[in-house]
Amino acid sequence: MAFKALNLSESVLRGVQAAGYTDPTPIQLRAIPVVLGGGDLIASAQTGTGKTAAFALPVLTRLGAHGRTRVLVLEPTRELAAQVETSFRNFARFTDIRTVAVFGGVGYGAQRSELKRGVDIIVATPGRLVDYLKSGEISLRDINILILDEVDRMLDMGFLPTVKDIIARCPRERQTLFFSATVPPEIAAVASFALRNPAKVEIGVARSVNESVNHALYPVAHDQKFDLLEALLAKTEFDSVIVFSRTKHGADKIARRLKAGNHAVAVLHANRSQNQRIEALEGFKSGKYEVMVATDIAARGIDVAGVSHVINYDVPEKPEDYVHRIGRTGRAQAVGDAITLVTPENAADIRDIQRFIGAKIPELKLEGFVYAPIIARPEQPTQNRGFRGGGQRGGGYGSGGPRHAQSGGGGRGQGQGGRGQGGGRGEGGGQPRSSEGGWNRFGASGGGASGGGRGSR
Ligand code: AMP
Repeated sequence: MAFKALNLSESVLRGVQAAGYTDPTPIQLRAIPVVLGGGDLIASAQTGTGKTAAFALPVLTRLGAHGRTRVLVLEPTRELAAQVETSFRNFARFTDIRTVAVFGGVGYGAQRSELKRGVDIIVATPGRLVDYLKSGEISLRDINILILDEVDRMLDMGFLPTVKDIIARCPRERQTLFFSATVPPEIAAVASFALRNPAKVEIGVARSVNESVNHALYPVAHDQKFDLLEALLAKTEFDSVIVFSRTKHGADKIARRLKAGNHAVAVLHANRSQNQRIEALEGFKSGKYEVMVATDIAARGIDVAGVSHVINYDVPEKPEDYVHRIGRTGRAQAVGDAITLVTPENAADIRDIQRFIGAKIPELKLEGFVYAPIIARPEQPTQNRGFRGGGQRGGGYGSGGPRHAQSGGGGRGQGQGGRGQGGGRGEGGGQPRSSEGGWNRFGASGGGASGGGRGSR
């Protein structure tokens, strides 16, 4: 097995074998030797690249046998903490290493008894960890490997002061590993005080969309979004679909309507109790629910094998979230499809996303769906994005029509108007990738959007 060449311990290799991995992924090939060598590391890698094993396997090898609490892994969300701890536990199944996941939203009892038994590895979210540090139930004095996972997300969520405090409580003599999808300047700043001469490993372009995902835009009038979602679901041979909503309220509403249409639906967002969140995720993983409606809390890192489709009911607010959301599908080389419903109001967001990923996203139209004219809603406020210049934000999808042509050019900087790089709509067609990509499963027709919906204006 190709993992053998990486100098992992025998028991860890057995764990890898039991997980069914045969060949290391690029991030594993590059990060494992650094971590085994004891050096600090900043690794940027897309979601789904196998980064958990890239740190878990060498860390378990370095730990050897059960002892004091020597490893702390920080995760931004409860789900990720649970998932990463499960990975550690699986890889460690032929060792006597003990792990615990520490996160909020659930009682303290079970976590406390695990901690009392003595653990080698703690995988925690910052908030709950601080509770235990305050009560003295966790001490970081023996930590010699500190791992910050999804650092960019952690900082986005406002954890910076807490994270700094936690880092300061760890011994100075330690190995520190940063994993982040992107490494913006704020992260470089934290890294400069937390890491010593870190090796840098960058896999792929952190902005790029996983190659095994076919993605496309489905333009639609605002009032038809739900109808199109239902039609897509009806026409799709999907195994499991995540539908992303921008807001918690929106997610609940979509879920209610889908349930009314006899879909088995789970909902995942921050207002749900931890038990509800666990039940949603478990039920989705087990196949009890075919659709999971989620906010961006679910977009990062969550590993749900076999997600065949991601549907962005709402365009994500931040371009990087586009990459994270659609990274839920096409994980570990499976082919996945990602659909984004777009209304004229989303023109600027789409432009930003296309600029961010450095590619134009093809547009498609669902065959057989009766499209209403797609007209920008003039009453829509521009959403707090003063820097963009005002008005209808570049005229959006209507750049072919006179009413939009007037408002075109309102975009920022380069005056790109409503179009994405390279001319936006009209030419956007064709199947996203090779025909094996599976778009035919939707009965989608390439480029039709510009002919159908928009032409009718
Ligand atoms: P991660 O990026 O760590 O969330 O991993 C993404 C998915 O890839 C998970 O389902 C892993 O179990 C899987 N995976 C990680 N490494 C490998 C490997 N070397 N071979 C096959 N699957 C892997």
